[in-house]
Amino acid sequence: MKKPDKDRLSRYRQKVHRKTEELMRLCLKAAHDDLLLRGTPVLTYKTCGKQNCKCREGGDKRHGPYFAVQMRREGKQRNLTLKASEEHFFNMAQHYQYQMSNRRKIVAIEAELLDEYDKVIKARTIWDKA
Ligand SMILES: [Zn+2]
Repeated sequence: MKKPDKDRLSRYRQKVHRKTEELMRLCLKAAHDDLLLRGTPVLTYKTCGKQNCKCREGGDKRHGPYFAVQMRREGKQRNLTLKASEEHFFNMAQHYQYQMSNRRKIVAIEAELLDEYDKVIKARTIWDKA
């Protein structure tokens, strides 16, 4: 008959405590009432229409950087360039990306906890009375 591995169970309990505290910390980061803009904040550079402008050389000779937000609308990628008075939308998109990064961490921790859970249960389970 299997014997319960008390060290393993103790390690499991400690890990569950650590991970659930981390989960709680991450989940609570979503509990703010500021608005988020679903998009990726990016800095863009542009060329103007003037014939003799240095921006025609391309690269960092172009005008900018300008704040913009990459968004997906109706399946298409769009670059929404922001005016100086609209820079708060850039921050809203940064905060959105931050929340999505937290969400990925939550999913990973959840999977890790479930994996540990399954291992502990498997270690405790017998398949037959023999
Ligand atoms: Zn130019």
